[in-house]
Amino acid sequence: MLQKVKELLKQFINFRSLRVRLFFIILIVGIVPSAIMRHSVLQSYEQRAVEQRTQVVQNQLRVLADHLVNDDYLSRPYSTVVNAELEMLSNLYDGRVLIINSNFKIAKDTYGLSEGKTIISEEVVKCFKGESLSNYDAEIGYIEMTTPIIDNRNSEHPSKIIGVMLTSISSDYISSTMEILNRKAFIMEVIMNLIIITLALVLSAVLSKPFGRVTKAINDVRAGYSTELLSVPDMAETIHIVDAFNELLAQRKALDDSRQEFVANVSHELKTPITSMKVLADSLLMQENVPAELYREFLEDIVSEIDRENQIITDLLALVKMDKTASQMNIASININDLTELILKRLRPIARKKDVEVVFESERTVIAEVDEVKMTLIMTNLVENAIKYNHDHGWVKVVLDADHQYFTFKVSDSGIGIPEEALPQIYERFYRVDKSHSREIGGTGLGLAITKNAVLMHRGSITVSSSEEEGSTFLVKIPLTYIAQ
Ligand code: ADP
Repeated sequence: MLQKVKELLKQFINFRSLRVRLFFIILIVGIVPSAIMRHSVLQSYEQRAVEQRTQVVQNQLRVLADHLVNDDYLSRPYSTVVNAELEMLSNLYDGRVLIINSNFKIAKDTYGLSEGKTIISEEVVKCFKGESLSNYDAEIGYIEMTTPIIDNRNSEHPSKIIGVMLTSISSDYISSTMEILNRKAFIMEVIMNLIIITLALVLSAVLSKPFGRVTKAINDVRAGYSTELLSVPDMAETIHIVDAFNELLAQRKALDDSRQEFVANVSHELKTPITSMKVLADSLLMQENVPAELYREFLEDIVSEIDRENQIITDLLALVKMDKTASQMNIASININDLTELILKRLRPIARKKDVEVVFESERTVIAEVDEVKMTLIMTNLVENAIKYNHDHGWVKVVLDADHQYFTFKVSDSGIGIPEEALPQIYERFYRVDKSHSREIGGTGLGLAITKNAVLMHRGSITVSSSEEEGSTFLVKIPLTYIAQ
């Protein structure tokens, strides 16, 4: 339990976690609008309450102002009726009324404190100019307003402002209502926030759970409990992850299989010459008085088996080296025409043995960025095969061409050809169409595998077309400029 709580806490500190992010998003989306709403509803209530109260008091003050004018209260502030009205007003609203005459003198103060004093404040001056104001101060808890005392009796100067009433009333009533509302809203908000937090916790856990399941499934595979991921069909995203992972597993399995097959093939290939040598040596040992010519013949056979073993090991090393140096290409600008001439010169002696004519046709001078050693392997293997798998007195034609992006190296021969069903396999390691024939002529089955690897490392392509007994054509296409990974 404690462990689980610790785990959860750890997760919550980690802001990269999807669950934590979801939690905070839901929280923010839920809490912020509700807080804004509470604030704005309360504020607009307060504004409206102040406006209403001001309006009610202003109406009563206007009626009172008429009475003041009629009783000529400004010059003789003794009217008992008006005084009673003033008293009632200030009691009712817990306020204070100052009546100011046109000389800015206070004719009446319901508090009885400032009568006879002069008051020149901005509001009063503005009110004399016809602009009555109201002001709400929530902190002190008062609404202050000015009301003009208008004399309409004189028809020559109608609507003459002869005095101003400066009234302040208590806003306690509004404040206490606000307090109650605030408290209620706060309780509501706390309840709502608790609901939102619970919702955020539950939703974030539910939404992120499938990813946990994917991780567990991957860990199960890693631990070796299972060889394939179970599907996690909760969400499109998890389906994609599982599909991609299963594909990766399948690739890894294929790689493992091919590696195992390769090791088996290598062992077999390396064992064959050794077995032959042992048979040859044993048969010599078992016979007595073996003639010297037979010794010689058998030893020659043993030497040729040793050569073969050597060839296999050389090719294997070339292949392994190719895998290792996948990222270390030794790229340089090479004249491909010169390179081809050189390779053909080296191979012509073999061709001559079978009386195979080797022709080189160059459409243009080709300078390309290649790894010279690997390019030599490509060309040598293709031309050598074309000679090896040819009939006596046949021909081999090498054509070099280029466009602005690629150069092509085409090797055609008049040889035995490759059966159609064998074509997809010829690049596989140790694959040979006719094992015994290939062995006879010294093939290891690794040449085309090496060639294809080298071509791919140049970001090139290799294609073949062939028909049995007519001949084959291999076409290699390589970019003139090396494109690094
Ligand atoms: P090997 O060392 O046996 O020549 P490769 O990988 O070079 O191995 O070639 C694989 C097989 O493809 C060869 O054994 C041969 O059967 C076939 N092959 C390759 N090139 C040619 C060709 N030009 N004509 C006919 N068969 C070919």
